[in-house]
Amino acid sequence: MKIKVGHGIDIHQLKSGEDFYLGGVKIESDIGIVGHSDGDVVIHAVVDAILGALSKGDIGTFFPSSDPSIKGVSSKVFLRKALDIMIDNKYKINNIDINVVLQKPQLSSYIYSIRKNLSSLIGIDIETISVKATTTDYLGFIGKGEGIMSTATLLLIKDHES
Ligand code: ZN
Repeated sequence: MKIKVGHGIDIHQLKSGEDFYLGGVKIESDIGIVGHSDGDVVIHAVVDAILGALSKGDIGTFFPSSDPSIKGVSSKVFLRKALDIMIDNKYKINNIDINVVLQKPQLSSYIYSIRKNLSSLIGIDIETISVKATTTDYLGFIGKGEGIMSTATLLLIKDHES
């Protein structure tokens, strides 16, 4: 069996008056994520993990932030592109483990929705997607509520059916 591990990491600034999407799910909050796109750090980390596993560069390779056409675009577009590249290379996702690091808001009530939404966007079973959230105990820029980070680790396996 051919397997490939991938890891992605993404950090964005948080600011009031911005939208807040994680894994394509809208988070109700008085602060939101600053970004050229919708700033969905979870999807960006997953995209980088897929591209990383395949040694195909990173999100900026395909969607440079200097490109005005990606302004405000849904990160689902980036995910679709990474999945298409993965399918072209005849791999499929075995499982994903995601961490979100932020001080607030509390994400516990959103974890299931994020897993469910990623499951339908990617087309894999919800049980193969793990989403965890943690804080930095008020330390650093994340602890001060100035930023949010997400990491994603995933395993790709050769898809013999494709
Ligand atoms: Zn990003």
